[in-house]
Amino acid sequence: MGKHVYFFGDGKAEGNTGMKNLLGGKGANLAEMSNLSIPVPPGFTITTEVCDAYYKNNRNYPSELEVQMKDAMSNVEGIMGAKFGDSRNPLLVSVRSGARVSMPGMMDTILNLGLNDTTIEGLVSQSGNARFAWDAYRRFVQMYGDVVLGMKPEKKEDEDPFEVIIEEKKKEKHVQTDTELDEDDLKDIVARFKAMVKEKKGMDFPDDPWKQLWGAIDAVFGSWNTERAIKYRKINNIPGDWGTAVNVQVMVFGNMGDDSGTGVAFTRDPATGENKFYGEYLINAQGEDVVAGTRTPQPVNESTKTSPDQKTLQEVMPDAYKTLEGIYNKLEDHYKDMQDIEFTIQKGKLWMLQTRTGKRTAMAAIRIAVEMVKEGLINEKTAVSRVEPAQLDQLLHPMFDPEAEKKVIAKGLPASPGAASGKVVFHADDAEDLKEEKTILVRIETSPEDIGGMNAAQGILTARGGMTSHAAVVARGMGKCCVAGCGAIRINYQKQVFSVGNATVKKGDWISLDGSTGEVMLGQVSTIQPELSGNFETLMKWVDEIRKLGVRTNADTPQDAEVARKFGAKGIGLCRTEHMFFEGDRIKAVREMILADDISGREKALAKLLPMQKDDFIGIFKAMNGLPVTIRLLDPPLHEFLPHEEANQKEMAEEMGISVEKVKSKIDSLHEFNPMLGHRGCRLGVTYPEITRMQARAIFEAACILTKDKYEVIPEVMIPLIGTTGEFLNQKKIVDAVAEEVMSEYGVNVKYLVGTMIEIPRACIVADEIAQKAEFFSFGTNDLTQMAFGYSRDDAGAFLGEYVEKGILEDDPFQVLDQEGVGQLVKMGIERGRNSRADLKVGICGEHGGEPESVKFCHRVGMNYVSCSPYRVPIARLAAAHAVLEEKKGK
Ligand code: PEP
Ligand code: MG
Repeated sequence: MGKHVYFFGDGKAEGNTGMKNLLGGKGANLAEMSNLSIPVPPGFTITTEVCDAYYKNNRNYPSELEVQMKDAMSNVEGIMGAKFGDSRNPLLVSVRSGARVSMPGMMDTILNLGLNDTTIEGLVSQSGNARFAWDAYRRFVQMYGDVVLGMKPEKKEDEDPFEVIIEEKKKEKHVQTDTELDEDDLKDIVARFKAMVKEKKGMDFPDDPWKQLWGAIDAVFGSWNTERAIKYRKINNIPGDWGTAVNVQVMVFGNMGDDSGTGVAFTRDPATGENKFYGEYLINAQGEDVVAGTRTPQPVNESTKTSPDQKTLQEVMPDAYKTLEGIYNKLEDHYKDMQDIEFTIQKGKLWMLQTRTGKRTAMAAIRIAVEMVKEGLINEKTAVSRVEPAQLDQLLHPMFDPEAEKKVIAKGLPASPGAASGKVVFHADDAEDLKEEKTILVRIETSPEDIGGMNAAQGILTARGGMTSHAAVVARGMGKCCVAGCGAIRINYQKQVFSVGNATVKKGDWISLDGSTGEVMLGQVSTIQPELSGNFETLMKWVDEIRKLGVRTNADTPQDAEVARKFGAKGIGLCRTEHMFFEGDRIKAVREMILADDISGREKALAKLLPMQKDDFIGIFKAMNGLPVTIRLLDPPLHEFLPHEEANQKEMAEEMGISVEKVKSKIDSLHEFNPMLGHRGCRLGVTYPEITRMQARAIFEAACILTKDKYEVIPEVMIPLIGTTGEFLNQKKIVDAVAEEVMSEYGVNVKYLVGTMIEIPRACIVADEIAQKAEFFSFGTNDLTQMAFGYSRDDAGAFLGEYVEKGILEDDPFQVLDQEGVGQLVKMGIERGRNSRADLKVGICGEHGGEPESVKFCHRVGMNYVSCSPYRVPIARLAAAHAVLEEKKGK
């Protein structure tokens, strides 16, 4: 008989933190806390395997589940001295989801389960507070109706039928708030709720606690596959077959009066990483109230305070705070990582409801990792593994220029750092619809339904909720700028405006958010590049000690090369020479070359280009002094350099003193049905050898001049798009001849290599033959992906999104290397290439060179280096270190 249920509580547990796959993150950590003798309300976890079985078995449960649940429940009853369904001493439970990784707010929760018309009497007498008890009953019926009986409104405009009844009651009683309703009012509301359920659902509200429990378990498992959960998984790359666990746990009440409360906290600041206990709480509230952001919480301690009139937990309940302090220290010592915890205080006694590794910004991740090494909690390798490569992106992007003029109109909480400017939208759908534009999503508060729009927007602004509200937590996870709890703004969804002071901001107006200060500004504020902190340097030093893979950059200009060098690039892996052809006057000479009728005309135009190309290379070689620079010969089809608009064609004809007809007919003659598979790459150099000659001359003249000036120049000339050894040899011969010629003219010797891009499947197959002649390989995985899949790079956007959505492809293969297919071509190319040249230098220069998973693949297949855009260099360095650490762990 399989084990489906794992008990925890009273200082022991059947599970532990290592069992996250089976028990989910929440269940595994509840077990772990229990094992550590931390006060956790007892309960049990139904495994993720049951979720999987439930879906595979047409929503039926394994037969042994019921017995195991009953056993676990009686265990819990024994500890609590209460009984599930008992009229005098009833045990109430919460039922919560808990997947392997946290999916904040995505799945369902039911609280106060076990209440009915008999058990309520027990709760009244036990708590000595009839109003509290009936409020709990009211909340339970409402939550159960919404979640389990599916009465939650589907559309945003629709009203929650339970809320309608509450509103009616308030009107009848002439009161404004729920808290003004008394015990009898709540009793009446419960009765009306039940009548409404009967009317709408044609069934009685379930009174049997076990029936209630099964319904709740169904709902939690069911919530794994709601549209919003599926969307969240897609954004966060969580596989659908992981499933969720269900945690059934004794209720503790934070809403039993002013000696009760509930809160969430982080053992270190999740935004900056500062080592201070950081959290928020609400007096007399149930757990969900804090996360939902419906009431603005208070700080737990002095260091979390943002204004002097706030009342901290430390002041209000010093004993509970002291216990909490002891627990958080114990947890951090135990887990050796920053924890995100949830707690409830019932009549002065503290209970822990959750601990998990806290989500943090990139800045915080680095600071925490580096400081924990200094504190002796973790070693350097662990520190490196704690920072996600993709997360670094947040640090490498611009922030607002402190010198720029800012019109600050409001200040909220600095919930997730970064700088964002965009047009205001008030609905998540609008942000999704305007994906191509920059938007700021402005909401009173966000909810899990808004996830798609939050992802699409540049930044998020909310009027309500604290640092741990849904908006704040989700934005931090996404690395997205967020200002939360900005109470000064008044939002009118109907009119699609918000006002603050004298200012009114309409849908479509530009605003800017500073997620590090909480400032909200009118208009678009200019940005600058952030300074990377000392902690970043320290971490990257450890990264470089671990990684084996080299990291170069794709750079076409001296400026890009300099930026990349600062980010730690050790050379250029791809300089696309054609990118310089559009600069200033050059395009004229390029066009003249293309339009020339014969070789002498072309050579005349190329002679004009030569000094310009030479200057470019001088700039780049200087910026990369002492490091290798791979320069690729001309690659794109020539028509890309010609104007396609009539007016521009006319302008070009005038400039060149020729007829528009001539321009047009040349453009027509260059037309190709499939330019990506047409006259491009080395095919240009084969048919117009004078182009290769000019480029080679520019490279070697630049190299010779600088060598004379005592620079160390290491040129690597790269032939693009070859499929046969013959193509390579044809071009190499020209390059070698020009190199020799130029070096003897300058009287200097420059060491150089001639290698090739491998970006055509045939080249991978005949790589052994090519490597006999080519001195290095650089995989052009953009073209290789295009040709391996047969997806046009330029046109695949039309259908790839749907392919990913429908699960036909896991990722867009132009972003994340397809390791199964394209990756195998790469692997074959490397193996075959090294069969004939054991020390063949191999790199990658397609877009995948800066994508963490692809970088790890490049490490595994034994490449020497990856090359990526300057801003992704640190990401690639870190991913390369992770590849080594994962290999050691045998992942
Ligand atoms: C490639 O094909 O991967 C490559 C780097 O070249 P380009 O993108 O310029 O075709
Ligand atoms: Mg290419």
